[in-house]
Amino acid sequence: ALPDAAIVFRADGALLWSNKLAQFYFGLRWPDDAGQRLSNLIRHPEFYAYLNEGNFEEELTIPSPIRESLDIEIRIMPYSEDQFLLVARDVTQVKRLENLRREFVANVSHELKTPLTVLQGYLEMMDDPQQTPPAMLKKAVENMNAQSTRMSNLVDQLLTLSRMETPSDDVFDHEVDMPAMLEQLQAEAKRLNEAKQHTIEFQVAPVRIYGKENLLRSAMQNLITNAIYYTPEGGNITVSWKRVAGGAEFSVTDNGKGIPAEHLPRLTERFYRVEDDRNSASGGTGLGLSIVKHAIEHHNSQLDINSSLEKGSRFSFRIPSGLLVN
Ligand code: ADP
Repeated sequence: ALPDAAIVFRADGALLWSNKLAQFYFGLRWPDDAGQRLSNLIRHPEFYAYLNEGNFEEELTIPSPIRESLDIEIRIMPYSEDQFLLVARDVTQVKRLENLRREFVANVSHELKTPLTVLQGYLEMMDDPQQTPPAMLKKAVENMNAQSTRMSNLVDQLLTLSRMETPSDDVFDHEVDMPAMLEQLQAEAKRLNEAKQHTIEFQVAPVRIYGKENLLRSAMQNLITNAIYYTPEGGNITVSWKRVAGGAEFSVTDNGKGIPAEHLPRLTERFYRVEDDRNSASGGTGLGLSIVKHAIEHHNSQLDINSSLEKGSRFSFRIPSGLLVN
């Protein structure tokens, strides 16, 4: 009745008993393997050394010998005189989350550290007014402004992401007037587009849906902003919202620089940016597309990305017909 895998073995290593889960995790055959040496059955150098050393104060984590992708944590304790009990549990998920968390904290720290270093540099320089000619001061203030905006965006985006991770099921509670929202986004896009002078066309069908307004706005805004940002001056961008088989589709198509195929599967990971864009000091945080992904997952949808180098990119998602307001 144990929820964990359990094995009883003798001090000389001979297997006496195992439960079903242990047979599953370690590929033991029962009762054929009874009496065999444990180190022959669970073949792993670290496990072998662990058994030989005989110090079982700490647990040991090894991949399952039959399923590489399973991480198994093993604890051994004395059971009776001359016998030991080995208890094992699947820690794959725990380990994965732990790695994600570690990576996430490292990324956030790095992303915040970079603008802070710039700010500190300028502050040090300004500490000595004689060393700071007025022209340089102006530049310094501009840069400090840009860096603090960047930090503040980063924190906003992190908060948005963490809010999205709290699941809620009220997706049907609210009707979202997509055409009205897209009208606002169009006005915003116009302002953003002043520097780049792209031709931006909005093709919007009168389709309303059930959903969460903030999440949808955030998703569409990120895709439109990216198209404006990553397309060289004077490009063509089309934003479309229309009925399609099985629902309604939102898409943003640009004729910008495109994205190398090897990056496509990773684009929605947090902090992931294409190499060229990584090095540009200005610009994004790599959180935009992971926000899009989460936002539309709440609407039973997923992000499709098509892109070819030098030709352009198309980002789209389809809201299933069950969420359309008739
Ligand atoms: P960022 O904050 O860097 O924009 P995103 O998650 O929104 O982060 O995008 C991740 C990366 O995907 C960007 O750094 C960029 O390299 C690439 N990308 C996104 N949209 C486009 C686009 N329309 N055209 C070309 N590259 C894009």
